[in-house]
Amino acid sequence: MSDHDAALERLSARGFRRTESSRAVLAILAAEPGLTAGQVHAELMASGRPHDRSTVHRVLRRLALAGAVFAVPCIGAVGYRLAAAEESGLVCTSCGTTASLSTATLDAVRRDAAGAGFDATVIVAGHCTSCTRHADAI
Ligand SMILES: [Zn+2]
Repeated sequence: MSDHDAALERLSARGFRRTESSRAVLAILAAEPGLTAGQVHAELMASGRPHDRSTVHRVLRRLALAGAVFAVPCIGAVGYRLAAAEESGLVCTSCGTTASLSTATLDAVRRDAAGAGFDATVIVAGHCTSCTRHADAI
């Protein structure tokens, strides 16, 4: 199952409707992960599917609540990515590379989150070795 299909499944599984706006935003993020809300808005406008900015923010918030996308803080902005099919893990906020965390680590974090009343998706944002190395060369 692709990440795009997995995101659509999560919407349904959590009782969210698959609206036209949700589908459009998910398709954009599937093609270009890491876009900000403003960039998603610009893509919608450019592709002839006009939405106002507040609608784009509302759709992204809804998709995040459904666990279909997650927000990654970048320098001066927040980028959005489809939640990967495996749902939890590491993500490089520069290039989007992902890696897995051990089941023991994920279980421990989920247990603590459940104790605090959270149904948590565990996303650890950071920078991969390649991006860190590249930054040193600048
Ligand atoms: Zn990277």
